Amino acid sequence: MGSSQVYSRDGITVRMGLVGAVRYLKASWPVRYGLYHEIRTPSYLFQFSPEGVIRFIQGRPGTWHNHADWFKRTAGGDWVYYSSGGYNGAFSAIGEHYIPVFPYPSNGVIGEKAYPEETLEDALQALDALTDRAGEEADKAPPEVAAFWGRVARKNSRDVLDGLAARFHGLTHGPLTVLPPDCRHVDYDILPLRLARGCLYHCRFCGVKSRDTFAVEGREQVVAGAQFLADFFKGDLADMGGVFLGEHDALAAGAGEVIRAAEACIPLFEGKRRMADAPGLFLFGSPDALVGVSDAQWQALDRLPFHVQINTGVESLDEPTLGYLGRPTPLPLVTEAVARADEVNRRCSGVSVSLNMVTGSGLPESHHESLARFVASRDALDAPLYLSPLKGHADRRTTLNELIALKRMGRGSVFLYLLQRL
Ligand code: SF4
Repeated sequence: MGSSQVYSRDGITVRMGLVGAVRYLKASWPVRYGLYHEIRTPSYLFQFSPEGVIRFIQGRPGTWHNHADWFKRTAGGDWVYYSSGGYNGAFSAIGEHYIPVFPYPSNGVIGEKAYPEETLEDALQALDALTDRAGEEADKAPPEVAAFWGRVARKNSRDVLDGLAARFHGLTHGPLTVLPPDCRHVDYDILPLRLARGCLYHCRFCGVKSRDTFAVEGREQVVAGAQFLADFFKGDLADMGGVFLGEHDALAAGAGEVIRAAEACIPLFEGKRRMADAPGLFLFGSPDALVGVSDAQWQALDRLPFHVQINTGVESLDEPTLGYLGRPTPLPLVTEAVARADEVNRRCSGVSVSLNMVTGSGLPESHHESLARFVASRDALDAPLYLSPLKGHADRRTTLNELIALKRMGRGSVFLYLLQRL
């Protein structure tokens, strides 16, 4: 923790200017990153962004059964419940020590837990009560603390929070149906900037595709989009984990456009950044887009002041399964994309590529066989693999058993892809 200001009165403690971890950690306890402020009441711990917008709520001992769990408010206004205990093998399944429970249907293969609606409502009522008493608290507090109470009152009523989420979605063409799985490395604290809309393939199996024909945004729109993000987040920008270049295949805009968009985002992370790691630049890249990047472009991506993290859906290494999925990528292209992903991971320190493949009970047996052969051949330095359970075709127990069996076969990383929206 850095130097902070502490003020207590009538059982309420305000701590301002707290500095959490400056590197993203894989932890099962509630780690906070960068600068934040908090208000501790006898029942709850409320943590706010530097601008004074609520980010985390946690029940204190006696309020919640498991007081190591917490709610996190996303910029899109969802309250994600982070369940830090009670799941054996969470890390093995998703690569994190907690399980996020979403207030919307996602691939519920991992979590059995129902979303804790009532617990959230109680916590939000406690936040309402806090904002209601902010004026009275401000009158009795020293000027800096009073100014913080003022921000808490202005920015955290339910109407204002709903309005903030609506404005965020308006600026970012959201809600975004899915983020790359690698965003977990920065706890999904990303700034979405659309570089291209739609996708190349319009696969039959996909539940997240947009109907749009693939189209690249104009350069002026991308620069304006970055400026909108700066105006929206203001002081909360500095400790964000990175940028997500949307939507479903930003790499198909061309590596040159990706680099230009990244350059437009550099100012977003300058100034007061406390995080020690380079911000992430997350994007999806189709097999066609991945194999289309030249050596010189990989080198240019590697030099960016971002950790570029590309996620490529290869879906299957089995021709009949690609046909079953309605995925118009011939097997040689898929194989070439995998080879390119592995090569990039070995050659570039600033760029990594991860792969996705589907799983599910309705798929041809030849898919599961090719998947097992593939995983058995992987090495620790190869591209990590995420498994996407097919909607409606993936039984929880079967999927987890398959995952455990796969993890024992090779030395590469295999995790489940947890679909998170923003
Ligand atoms: S899997 Fe990817 S390429 Fe296929 S339809 Fe969905 S978003 Fe488009």
